Amino acid sequence: MADVVDSGWLVHGPRHGELERALATLVGARHALGVASGTDALELALRATVPAGRDVVVTTANCGGYTTTAARRAGFTVRYSDVDPSTALLDPADLPRVLDERVGAVVVTHLYGGVADVAAVREAAATVGAAVVEDCAQAIGATGVEGPVGGLADAATFSFYPTKNLGALGDGGAVTTSRDEVADAVRDLRQYGWQDKYTIGLDGGRNSRLDEMQAAVLLARLPLLDGWNRRRREIVAAYAAAAQGLQLLPQAAPGHVGHLAVVVAPDRTGLGAHLARHQVQSGVHYPVADHRQPAFATEHAAVDLPVTDRLTQQVLTVPLFPELTDDEVERVCAALASY
Ligand SMILES: *Cc1c(COP(=O)(O)O)cnc(C)c1O
Repeated sequence: MADVVDSGWLVHGPRHGELERALATLVGARHALGVASGTDALELALRATVPAGRDVVVTTANCGGYTTTAARRAGFTVRYSDVDPSTALLDPADLPRVLDERVGAVVVTHLYGGVADVAAVREAAATVGAAVVEDCAQAIGATGVEGPVGGLADAATFSFYPTKNLGALGDGGAVTTSRDEVADAVRDLRQYGWQDKYTIGLDGGRNSRLDEMQAAVLLARLPLLDGWNRRRREIVAAYAAAAQGLQLLPQAAPGHVGHLAVVVAPDRTGLGAHLARHQVQSGVHYPVADHRQPAFATEHAAVDLPVTDRLTQQVLTVPLFPELTDDEVERVCAALASY
C-alpha cells in the first residue's frame, strides 16, 4: 500500500493489471476486468452479454437481490426460476418454464459457496439463444466437475466486499470472460464507454473502477485464498456432522468453498433461540426473496416459487470465517448437536 502511494499511480496501474492476470489464471478464463463492486460486475456483464433486442434476464430469487438490482439498473425485466431443494441453487429442471426468445441472459449464482450445475443451465439457455453469466461473489476458488467457477459460461462476476472469501479493504469486483468481444465491452463500459480516451464508442458506460490500492491488497491476499477456503470447508464439514437430522448448506460436494454455513430448519425461530442460549449468533441469508421485495413486489404478484418461498422461511446462517478457533467451532457444533 505504501508502494502504491509512493508511485502516485492510484488507478489502473501495474498492480491492477497483475491482479487481472492472476484472476484470469485462477478461473481459467482469457480475461479478467477489475470493476468497483460485485453489483457493478453483474450490471456490466449483462450489458456486455445480452444480445441486442432482448429485454429479460432470468435468475433465482433467493440470492440477496444483487442480480435483480443490477439487471433492473441495466434496463432489463427480471424473471425467476425456482431452486433445487437439496442445494438451494438454480434448478435446471424449472428453468425452461421461464425461457423464451425475450430472454437475453440467465444469471446462475454459486450461492453460499456451493457450485451450481452450469452445464445444465448453458444447455437450457442455448435453446433460446440466451447468454449465461455465473455470479461467483460467494464462490471464488470453488471448482465443479467442469473446472473452476468463473470460467464455465459467457462471463462471470466476483465481489471483493470485505466479508467475501477474498475481501479487499473496501469495495471491489471483477468480471471474467473468455469471449474477447465481451471483455472489450466491459473494458469500455467501466470507464464511461470510452473506446479511446475521451471518445465514447459504447453507450451505457459509467465509472466503475477498482482502485490500485485495493488491487495491491487483493494481490497480497490471493495466495492465502486456498488455505482460507480449506479451513471454511473443514468448518462446514464439522457443522454438518454435528447437525444430525438438519440439512446444512452448502451441500457436501468436493469443490465447494463454504462462504456461508446455512442450516435449513423447519422451526428457524426455535433454532435461533436455542443457539442464542448457547451464545452462538445467527443470521438469515436472505430474509426477503427478490420477487417479494417491497420496491417491486406488485410487478411479481403472480410469481409462484414454492421452494424459494419455503427456504426463505427456513434458512438460518451460523458463524463461518477462517479465523474461527477450534474451540469456537466446537461450541457451535455442541449447540447444533444439542438442538
Ligand atoms: C455480495 C454479493 C454480490 C454483490 O457484491 P457487492 O460487491 O456487494 O456489490 C452479488 N452477488 C452475490 C451472490 C453476493 O453475495
